[in-house]
Amino acid sequence: MVGEPEGELAPMSHSYTKGLHELGDGVWAYIQPDGSWCLSNAGLIVGDGTSLLVDTLMDLKLTREMLDSMKSITATRPIDTLVNTHANGDHCYGNELVPDRAEIYATVAAAEEMTEVPPARLLGMREAEDPELREFAQYCFGAFAIEEVNGRPPDRTFTDSLELEVGGRKVSVADLGPAHTHSDSIVYLADARTVFTGDLVFVKGTPIAWVGPIGNWLAACDRICALDVDTVVPGHGPITDKDGVRDVHAYFSHVYAEAKLRQEAGVDSLEAAFDIDLGPFAEWGDSERIVVTVDTIYGELDPSHATGEPTELFRQMGRYMKKAAPQPR
Ligand SMILES: [Zn+2]
Repeated sequence: MVGEPEGELAPMSHSYTKGLHELGDGVWAYIQPDGSWCLSNAGLIVGDGTSLLVDTLMDLKLTREMLDSMKSITATRPIDTLVNTHANGDHCYGNELVPDRAEIYATVAAAEEMTEVPPARLLGMREAEDPELREFAQYCFGAFAIEEVNGRPPDRTFTDSLELEVGGRKVSVADLGPAHTHSDSIVYLADARTVFTGDLVFVKGTPIAWVGPIGNWLAACDRICALDVDTVVPGHGPITDKDGVRDVHAYFSHVYAEAKLRQEAGVDSLEAAFDIDLGPFAEWGDSERIVVTVDTIYGELDPSHATGEPTELFRQMGRYMKKAAPQPR
């Protein structure tokens, strides 16, 4: 086959297919292409007689499918620990399906935020009377059975960082937020030179800064790049390495600088979002998320800026997506 490398593939080469991908001794990523809205990744870390799950998925069907795919591993090494990296539903709505015996960990801030974004809130947008909001919310959440989600809150909360022992393995959790949400944790497995970043890293998809500040996100990228890791499992998109993290850093550096120029020139935040040339990042999926990120940057630059309501931001992202879509000739 043309272009097929000869001999062994480099260890970093992971195919971008749905399901479990073994990353090394007792470490797997669960990947959901194409990584767009709510199609998130998760992880499984296995020690002696026990496992730790990193995140659940957007609904019960997807989470059940993931847990079933892990059964040959978890039958003898059950999931006793779950870490939710952050509060977005695509990382915790499946929590109720982990075994009752499992203890769920999240930061204090993430646990609080989970109570603020229950499935009912997304369902409300999906069924909104406003056609623009309803259409975009359907696009984002329509494929998921969120009406079936009851939710299960964390059992244990922490702040800043947490050291866990999983059947003889050391697993380090660190909150590098607020950035994407009010709290964004990474899960670092030093012995496998692997980090699960949650939504601090998107690959081939546009990241979205719901909370910021952007400086925290840039610092988070630097912290991840300073880790002794070869493998980076992003919250969305294909498995990557530090280059994927550097791309996220480059995106936010670019968008922040461009937004700041416009803010200083008195341009409205929405107009700025539509006006910024994304350059090479325009090829990433879900470019409409710039609407939220620019609004967050404006709030950061001027505390008196009235940050948009989530419903309004969703409506505007829908407009941006239509604008960004190739026009029929
Ligand atoms: Zn996500």
